[in-house]
Amino acid sequence: MHGIRKRLISIFVIVSIVVTACPFSPFLTVSAFGAEAEEQEKKEFIKWVDFNVPCQAMKKAISLDIESQDKDVKLNFIELLAYLAAKNGNDFSRYKDAQLTDVAEKLNSGKSMAELTANMKYYNYYHEVYSAVLSGFVGNFEIEVPNEDGTGKHWESRYGIKAFSPIAKNYPYSHYDDFGKKRSYGYTRPHLGNDLIGQVGTPIIAVEGGVVEALGWNMYGGWRIGIRSLDQKRYYYYAHLRKNFPYRKDLAVGSVVKPGDVIGYLGRTGYSLKENENNIETYHLHFGMELVFDESQKECNNEIWINVYEIVNLLENKRSQVVKNQETKDYSRVYDFRDISTLSE
Ligand SMILES: [Zn+2]
Repeated sequence: MHGIRKRLISIFVIVSIVVTACPFSPFLTVSAFGAEAEEQEKKEFIKWVDFNVPCQAMKKAISLDIESQDKDVKLNFIELLAYLAAKNGNDFSRYKDAQLTDVAEKLNSGKSMAELTANMKYYNYYHEVYSAVLSGFVGNFEIEVPNEDGTGKHWESRYGIKAFSPIAKNYPYSHYDDFGKKRSYGYTRPHLGNDLIGQVGTPIIAVEGGVVEALGWNMYGGWRIGIRSLDQKRYYYYAHLRKNFPYRKDLAVGSVVKPGDVIGYLGRTGYSLKENENNIETYHLHFGMELVFDESQKECNNEIWINVYEIVNLLENKRSQVVKNQETKDYSRVYDFRDISTLSE
């Protein structure tokens, strides 16, 4: 019975999103949750909700989550962040770690999150949004690590951040918060991702595992790869890949990749109807994340692309080490990974 009720509720939520969200701007689809969104629209509290959780807040919430795993009260970093957003009205400009430590203390002293958020109108909304953005980022996994004596490697079980930086280990890059800045090719439109400027040929890494959904030429993105997370909620977009050698050779639409796998190589292709053209000025990776709450949103005029700048910062030191195969010229990861929490829900 419980399952049917849950399904009905989720159908209602999806219908509400579609009905209320579609006529509005792409950003509104993030904030549009049925009656709440209509109310927001009328009262003009929030015109849209963008993902603006600072890297520092994500790090703190994740460390509280990790530290609680062997304690009686388990803290969940997504709940902690949703609490904070509901409390501060999505304004993180005065964020301090103490704000999260305070919530953690209340939870540790026996209060439940339901009690703490009883009067917070938007807690469920932020929880839903942050779950969509971040639910693939922390969990149980196994990873190969180097042996202490310097010979070979062995598997270790861990709980923590299981996503990787899109740039391989030991490859430099620079970036700034360029989300929403104007871009013009064909027509003027906002920039819906983060540009990571680096050296040509830099191995590009799958941030999260999933299924390759798009691979090929796109007039804007050039050679690009789109990877959908296994829970279907996130679509990762990696664009402007290298002329003549854009992808890891064995990848195709339908391939399954793991977080930390090499997927392609940094380049400057794109802005051309003709394939394999280097029409972008600067060598860089365009990295983007689209949220998909309902399949109808995947390709439409109201696609939900979030600002991944702080996410890239969160993953700055989570780099996958790679090695080149001299025969094939392809790179591959040195330390393998197994996700042991995948599809556990
Ligand atoms: Zn870009």
